[in-house]
Amino acid sequence: MLTFRDDAVTAVILGIMQDAGLPHIGCTCARCTAAFDDPARVAYAACLAIVDTRKKRNAEERGEGAELRRETAKVYLVDATPDIKFQLNLLAGVLGTKPQQPTRLRQPDAVFLTHAHMGHIGGLPQLSKEAMFVHDLPLYATPPLCELIQQTRLWSPLVAELDFRPMSGGESVDLGDGLVITAVPVPHRDEWGVGTVAYRIQGPNQSLLYLPDIDSWDEWPEAEATLSSVDVALVDASFYSRDELGGRARWPIRW
Ligand SMILES: [Zn+2]
Ligand SMILES: [Zn+2]
Repeated sequence: MLTFRDDAVTAVILGIMQDAGLPHIGCTCARCTAAFDDPARVAYAACLAIVDTRKKRNAEERGEGAELRRETAKVYLVDATPDIKFQLNLLAGVLGTKPQQPTRLRQPDAVFLTHAHMGHIGGLPQLSKEAMFVHDLPLYATPPLCELIQQTRLWSPLVAELDFRPMSGGESVDLGDGLVITAVPVPHRDEWGVGTVAYRIQGPNQSLLYLPDIDSWDEWPEAEATLSSVDVALVDASFYSRDELGGRARWPIRW
């Protein structure tokens, strides 16, 4: 379980692996074999959380000497990965429990999806009735990705519990007190035509770009300007050589 700075906005990396995590299903390479044998070597799929533990002032109380009022920390998750139960558990200390159910974690305050690939939406079923059973959970995603999820009948019980917040590329959501999240469209393999976004997170003091998946920096004319506009950029990892793929198809496959 992680602990967080008091009275701050913190970005926490909850995973760095490709969609399927480590070990990778069906892989017998030395690294995966070691991870299958030793839970300490397991690593989760790429995921970011933004945790806001700032104390709030009433608007009319702002200024010197105003009494600071503690509210429940705000916890925002970027992507719902297949490892979501472990990743939320890392946030247990800051999420806290439900007032009426002291043995159940409070749901995050919102989930932001980057795109529709399994490593980024594969944790959504864990939020449904059979598992966490969220209620009115704000879900930010591109408008066509919201529609795709809403139209997927398999997930209709979960859809009823989500509060869809369609957010197109370039749009922002103001989460209060100088914390603003902006969707940034990026080129990435897109089987459903729903787009892929990175998120630019503007905190009270610093900015961060979270860009877990991109196919080609050359196909993104705004790359340099976007990357140079933030204090920290967390970006899709690169292979140093094709040999690292171990005979698998090279991504991105052109559709
Ligand atoms: Zn492997
Ligand atoms: Zn992807």
